[in-house]
Amino acid sequence: MDRRHFFQSSALVSTGALIGCAVPGVAQQQPRTPFAVAQITLPIVGSDALFPVRRIYCIGRNYAAHAKEMGSDPSREPPFFFQKPTDAIQHVPANTVADHPYPSLTKNYHYEAELVAVLDKGGRNIPVAKALELVYGYTLGLDMTRRDLQRAMGDEKKPWEIGKSFDHSAPIGAVHPVALTGHFTQGAIWLKVNGQTKQSANLSQMIWSVAEQISKLSEANELFPGDIIYSGTPENVGPVVRGDVIEMHIDGLPNLSVKIV
Ligand code: MN
Repeated sequence: MDRRHFFQSSALVSTGALIGCAVPGVAQQQPRTPFAVAQITLPIVGSDALFPVRRIYCIGRNYAAHAKEMGSDPSREPPFFFQKPTDAIQHVPANTVADHPYPSLTKNYHYEAELVAVLDKGGRNIPVAKALELVYGYTLGLDMTRRDLQRAMGDEKKPWEIGKSFDHSAPIGAVHPVALTGHFTQGAIWLKVNGQTKQSANLSQMIWSVAEQISKLSEANELFPGDIIYSGTPENVGPVVRGDVIEMHIDGLPNLSVKIV
């Protein structure tokens, strides 16, 4: 069997479709995929371009008072990170209240209001002093959490992915380029449910700054353009039920609002 014939017949078997064939002296076509997978993107304020999301990293227990309410001693803990799948993103446009589906399997669904840094550069072992050079912009997001499942899995020393990494678990605003907003090292962060304040803190209370988070994370994983980092939530996380409206705020960004349905 010559090479061309092999490519054609194997493609027919594996995908049911013809893919590019190898002809000497002719650039080979990229194989077609049998179906498309959506590229997850976020709007960029002040631009027609979209920000492509590669990975969603989240830091745990990054405000001392929240670490204590989760039952740990923040003074002795190095930062730790987990991920959500990129298709957990639910973009919420400014000045709208987006419907957010109450997820399956939980009876204790919690909000966590967080600053999100988005990167357009990458690297390994980034020094803290250089880390902010990787940041393209910022937005605000909710790290929605099935708290009962997170706790139950933790109690059993199992991975708590099912509590954190599920469909729609990452409501998020549009990207605001650093050129428009500067970096966020302080400023109010708050969250209300049905108009009542639940979380209220200052970004300056983070245990690990955005620069330190990038530096630490780059020791564990090579970072790439498109990576985004949820920078942790302040204290007083709590539950929502269907019908509740969450509004969150960070000074310098438009508020983000969702209705639980
Ligand atoms: Mn969180």
